[in-house]
Amino acid sequence: MSRIAYVNGRYLPMNAATVHIEDRAHQFADGVYEVCAVAGGAIVDLEPHLVRLARSLGELRIPAPMDERALVQVMHEVVRRNRVGDGILYIQVSRGRAPRNHGFPKNAVPSVVMTARGGWSGDAPGLRDCVKVVSSPDIRWGRCDIKSVSLLPNVLAKQAASEAGAFETWLVDGDGYVTEGSSTNAWLVDGQGRLHTRAISPAILSGVTRLKLLELARTEGMTIVEEPFTVAMAQAAPEAFLTSTSNFVLPVLEIDGHMVGTGQAGPVTRKLQDIYRTYVRSHAEPGR
Ligand code: PMP
Repeated sequence: MSRIAYVNGRYLPMNAATVHIEDRAHQFADGVYEVCAVAGGAIVDLEPHLVRLARSLGELRIPAPMDERALVQVMHEVVRRNRVGDGILYIQVSRGRAPRNHGFPKNAVPSVVMTARGGWSGDAPGLRDCVKVVSSPDIRWGRCDIKSVSLLPNVLAKQAASEAGAFETWLVDGDGYVTEGSSTNAWLVDGQGRLHTRAISPAILSGVTRLKLLELARTEGMTIVEEPFTVAMAQAAPEAFLTSTSNFVLPVLEIDGHMVGTGQAGPVTRKLQDIYRTYVRSHAEPGR
């Protein structure tokens, strides 16, 4: 079955789905995006994704491309037309198409693109049990809270990880603290079983998985410390892990060549993996 993309009002086979070469996302990375998990055909955490999308658009003064109900309808339709059970929905909104000039164009109409595909990356063989991380300086801009398609530093960081035989690069700020991964949020578990993750600020993306996991962990009675940590602190911690929409919760077993904890996924991470998976599964439409 050919994959179907939504592009500016039309559902098209993937290889016929194109945007204009003067689209602002193409020329200036002037756009934002969201990635939602789909479980049993249902969109997981729809509301926080819509809130974050609206916020990213607002911060960049890109008008909403359509009202929320229409947007949600297209999201569901893209999932349905691609027959995605468990998988990922991608949404991108750009400032639109206009002759190339840096400043905002007058009267540009935002472009909307959506795609969906089956499979969760965190399910790849071996990944659920073990992730290696390397670190490098965070060279991104000062508004990492905006989910912008301007991802070049993140691309370079992910490539550096892969060339080092690792899954992720943890980015380190000028004070020596980990901000987040190139496409994931970073966590550690301390000796008292408390969860540490950096507080929300312009230095990191407010991960929807991060937010939900904090809520679920609090419900479990776990203590949360929203403070930054260094690579050395994570290396010395009993457990470390990372989170994202497409990977859920992944145990970090090595950071810059240093083994974390016992070198196996620890009990707190395992518990959070289970809790989070159960939560994701609870979205699935009945009978799927
Ligand atoms: N940080 C960055 C830089 C990301 O790109 C992502 C994933 N898009 C995350 C964190 C995790 O966010 P979420 O849980 O919403 O996928």
